[in-house]
Amino acid sequence: MRLARFEQKGRVFYGICEDEFIYPIEGEIYSDFKAASQKMKLSDVKLLAPCSPTKVVCVGLNYKDHIQEMGLETPTEPTIFMKPATAVIGNNEEIIYPEMSTQVDYEAELAVVIKNRIKNISPNEVYENILGYTCGNDVTARDLQRKDGQWTRAKSFDTFCPLGPWIETEVEPASLNIKAYLNGELRQSSNTSFLLFPVEELVSFISRVMTLNPGDVIMTGTPSGVGAMKPGDVIEISIEGIGTLKNRVCPQTHIR
Ligand code: MG
Repeated sequence: MRLARFEQKGRVFYGICEDEFIYPIEGEIYSDFKAASQKMKLSDVKLLAPCSPTKVVCVGLNYKDHIQEMGLETPTEPTIFMKPATAVIGNNEEIIYPEMSTQVDYEAELAVVIKNRIKNISPNEVYENILGYTCGNDVTARDLQRKDGQWTRAKSFDTFCPLGPWIETEVEPASLNIKAYLNGELRQSSNTSFLLFPVEELVSFISRVMTLNPGDVIMTGTPSGVGAMKPGDVIEISIEGIGTLKNRVCPQTHIR
């Protein structure tokens, strides 16, 4: 099932996407819901980021090929950091290139959407607490990441966390092809089977640090092939069985 969050006439709804239609839901997306009887055309609604997290928790260096590319040592525990909820945007929204940076990179990532409030769960309890998966782009001001030493500024600009287009609830995350295309050209191509810490270990580990709330997002790290974007570029993240997240980069001067 594909769960989307969308806006129509200024109101926000969740719905189930099927082919070119969306069926608004009755009930609560994180517990019980069913599809309403009426449907709308997907082309008539504006899709939003598929969830509204209280936080986005990310892992650095979680693909073996990306660790080699960066020339770093293999971590023995997940290296985690966070992006604020204000960085989240949806499919087709614009990534704003901040004036503070001269190198803004894309990072294709499988994003996990949490279903229940969880704390201290074991790896074998993880899957029952996941709502589903979406495509994520861990946009990073690489120059500021190097300059600052810690990553908050580099990872946290508004629009630096594109998510979408929807949450796929039925896909198995263990072996999915993941790709990034910059202006239609393939730049990243890997598979989630190369994750150093797989989804169940990662979510369990993070839940031992902090309480995770319904709608919180875990970004599982990026494979090799990260690179820079410039204003005007279009970046697409495609994950097998989920879909494609597409965003254009625009200069900050266009935005207040
Ligand atoms: Mg990343």
